[in-house]
Amino acid sequence: MKVQTVVQYHCFSYLNLPQVSLHNHSKYTMKVLVYSSNPYDQPALKQASLGKHELIFTEKKLNLETAGYAKGCEAIAIFTSDDGSAPVLEKLYEYGVRHIALRSVGHDHVDSEKAGQLKMKVANVPEYSPYSVAEHAVAMLMTVNRKIIEGQLLMKLQDFRLDTLKGFDVHGKTIGIIGTGKIGMAFAKIMVGFGTTILATDPQQNTEALALGIKYVLLDELLKSSDIVSIHCPLTPQTKHLLSSRQFEMMKKGSVLINTSRGAVINTTDLIEAIENGKLREVCLDVYEFEKGLFFEDHRADIINDTRFTKLKGFNNVLITGHQAFLTTEAIQGIAKTTIENLDYWEKGTASPNEIL
Ligand code: NAD
Repeated sequence: MKVQTVVQYHCFSYLNLPQVSLHNHSKYTMKVLVYSSNPYDQPALKQASLGKHELIFTEKKLNLETAGYAKGCEAIAIFTSDDGSAPVLEKLYEYGVRHIALRSVGHDHVDSEKAGQLKMKVANVPEYSPYSVAEHAVAMLMTVNRKIIEGQLLMKLQDFRLDTLKGFDVHGKTIGIIGTGKIGMAFAKIMVGFGTTILATDPQQNTEALALGIKYVLLDELLKSSDIVSIHCPLTPQTKHLLSSRQFEMMKKGSVLINTSRGAVINTTDLIEAIENGKLREVCLDVYEFEKGLFFEDHRADIINDTRFTKLKGFNNVLITGHQAFLTTEAIQGIAKTTIENLDYWEKGTASPNEIL
C-alpha cells in the first residue's frame, strides 16, 4: 500500500492508520476531522485550506461509534448523512470538539438546541451553486417526462418503436414551487425560459420572484393548480410531512412531483399510496425520507430491508437519484471554500457569519 508522504492531510480511515499525527503540529492552528469525506471532495477541501488547517479525512460517517475519532480535534466537518443528534454532540464535546462546520446548506441533521447548550459553534454553507440542485431538478423532470431512460434502453435493444415514449410540452404548463429561496429561484428562472406560469408558496415573498411575475399563493391553491410541483424548502418541524395524504388528494391528477430538498418534507407512506392510486403521473426524488444508512453507500451486495424504498424503486413512473443533485464541480468547490472560511473565522477566535445558532 502506498502511504502518502505528504503529511499535511491524513486519511487514517482509508489507509487503516490509527489517528496519529505524523508531523510537526506547530504550523497548523486548527485540527479538523472531516467525516464522510470522499475522493470527490477531499481535493477541493485541501486546495481551499492551503495548508492553514490540519485536515484529517475519514470516509466514516459521524455517529455514536465514530465520535471518538475526533478526540483531540477542535473542529469537525460533516455532511448531510452524518448524525449530529444530542448524544453524539455530547460525546464530541467530551472529546474536545467545539466547532462543527457543515458541508451543506441543510442543518436538520444537527440538534442545534443541544449544540447551543454545549456552546458549540455550528456553521453551514448557506450558498453554493444553487444552479447545481435546480438544474438537477430540471434534468429529472425532463428525463421522466421525455422517457429518456426507456428510450435509451429500447435503443440498446434495437427496438425503435415510439409507442411508449410520449411526453408532454412543459411550455404552457403551471409550475408550483414550494420555497423560493436560492435553489427555488434558480429553478424558477429556468422554468421561465420554458414558457410556463409559475405559482409559489413561501412564508417570505421574494421580490425577485415578484418581478419575474411569479404569483404567491397558499400551498393548497398551488397544489390544486399546478401541473408540476417542485419542493425547495428546508426540512424543519413545520415542513416535516408538508405533503401528506390531504395534500396529495388536492394535487391535480396526472401532475408531476419533484423533491430535491429533504426526504421527510414528504410523507413517504402517503406518497406511495398516491402513486398506487394513479394520482401522480411521474415522481422525481433526489432525497428520500429514510435515506440515512442507505444513500452515499455501496449496498450492491446487500438485501435492502426497506419495503417503502423497494416499492418506490419498483414503480415505473418514479425516478430516484441518491442525493446527488448538488454534485457539480462548481458546487464542490463552493462547499469547500465556505467550509474552510468558517474554520478560518473560528481559528481567529471570531464568529462566522454562517453560524446557525
Ligand atoms: P434557502 O434558505 O435559500 O431557501 C429556502 C426557502 O424555503 C426560503 O425562502 C424559506 O422562506 C422557504 N420556506 C421555509 N419554510 C417554508 C414552507 N413551510 N413553505 C414554503 N417555503 C418555505 O435554501 P436553498 O439554498 O434554496 O435550499 C433549499 C433546501 O434544499 C435546503 O434546505 C436543503 O434541504 C435542500 N438542498 C438539497 C440538496 C441536494 O443535493 N439534494 C443540496 C442543497 C440543498
